[in-house]
Amino acid sequence: MKTAILGAGLTGITLARLLHEKGDEVTVLEREQEYGGLCRSMTNSGFTFDIGGSHIIFSRDTQVLTFMCDVLGRNSKQNKRNTKIFYKGLFIKYPFENGLNLLPKDDLFFCINEFIKTLIAVEKGQIAPPSNFREWINYTFGKGIADLYMIPYNEKIWKYPAERMSMHWVDGRIPRPPVEDVIRSAIGIETEGYTHQSVFSYPLKGGIEAMVRQIAKPVETNIQTGFNVSSIRKVYGDFIISDGCREISAKRLISTIPLQELLPCLDRVPEKVKKACSKLKYNSIACIFIGIKGRVPDISWMYIPETEIGLFNRISFPSNYSPHVAPSGHSSILVEITYREGDEASTMQDEEMIEHVVTSLEKMKIIKTKEVIAYSAVMRQKYAYVIYDLEYQKNIATVKEYCAEAGICLVGRFAEFEYLNMDGCIRNAMNFAKL
Ligand SMILES: Cc1cc2nc3c(=O)[nH]c(=O)nc-3n(C[C@H](O)[C@H](O)[C@H](O)COP(=O)(O)OP(=O)(O)OC[C@H]3O[C@@H](n4cnc5c(N)ncnc54)[C@H](O)[C@@H]3O)c2cc1C
Repeated sequence: MKTAILGAGLTGITLARLLHEKGDEVTVLEREQEYGGLCRSMTNSGFTFDIGGSHIIFSRDTQVLTFMCDVLGRNSKQNKRNTKIFYKGLFIKYPFENGLNLLPKDDLFFCINEFIKTLIAVEKGQIAPPSNFREWINYTFGKGIADLYMIPYNEKIWKYPAERMSMHWVDGRIPRPPVEDVIRSAIGIETEGYTHQSVFSYPLKGGIEAMVRQIAKPVETNIQTGFNVSSIRKVYGDFIISDGCREISAKRLISTIPLQELLPCLDRVPEKVKKACSKLKYNSIACIFIGIKGRVPDISWMYIPETEIGLFNRISFPSNYSPHVAPSGHSSILVEITYREGDEASTMQDEEMIEHVVTSLEKMKIIKTKEVIAYSAVMRQKYAYVIYDLEYQKNIATVKEYCAEAGICLVGRFAEFEYLNMDGCIRNAMNFAKL
């Protein structure tokens, strides 16, 4: 079967490999000059950074985890997670409910009191089951943990009001704490949450892109980079895909590109479908790369819920995942700022963003002085996070139904428009290839 795959991110590359192994004739069409999508990494001045935000390898799906680790072979390092939440200048253990004893006493009381009151109220049926994300947070964690961490952090990353977000996606994504663990952590007994991620892997060399490169090895010659798909027609049952200059024909078409990029390539898309697609919401991301002389704290990454500290929601320390991603005697910091068109971060120049980040890192005492900065850069990705608003399920159903009728298969994070991590993309590619 001659198959065209649109997009050479992790999903497109994995699909190409798996279908090639089955004997299919595959061509992967990628807009950029390099393949890898959100899983690309870049090396400059001896620092390697993941350009789509800091990535780590973990999964509950053992088959997928084995696949990811096997392709990397010896180019992989296992790390024990040491993740913090930066709260009122303190480094609280992650997940927040596993670090309660580190909070100031008043905040600890607020969290545990509200957690227990909510549990009792839920048990007695005094609180209606949640119908949106904000209600789910309050219902699951109580008002204390909700107000101090969960709601500010989530509104910072999603840039969207929690009461206007759906809650259908939270299972398996947001750690739901066992009651005993919350009580243990409140009185200072060590507990570990979100355990399937407490140990994670990372490539020793090459950043996360090293994994995609290994997956791509058997199909590298099937990838056409610099092919910006701009039109798709169906002629006598074949798909004709063009970038305005070149044409490729295929019996089967799999799209891994964002729906917002796919639909304009198609003829006569009904208004109803276009409207539904335009209502699907997503966030973009700016990644600020900082290389420093000397060491960074022994932390994997940190979440920053407070808006006063800075615009960023997460700070990672890639040189703690692998010593080979920074030159000797140096370390690295990757700062993430999500944004939506028109907001403060979306209009900031790169220099302004770097200045904002460096000043904040100094205030947070992550770096002693600006003098240690050896390298800085900014990279932006338009499609970073799917936002599950309350209309999401209705709108995505309309778009997916149309694509299915048009015979276009959708696989991947922005093609399915789902909050898929790398393991979810590989799982969906594996499931597709089995068809
Ligand atoms: C900040 C951040 C951190 C993350 N951290 C982790 C993590 O720690 N662990 C984890 O497992 N996952 C993580 N992820 C998720 C992971 O990055 C994604 O699941 C995965 O990269 C998605 O791959 P994809 O191929 O579906 O999409 P993409 O990587 O978006 O690939 C789509 C490809 O389509 C191409 N394209 C678009 N339009 C066209 C066109 N018209 N013609 C041709 N090509 C086109 C793009 O250039 C791109 O290469 C993270 C994501 C983000 C944003």
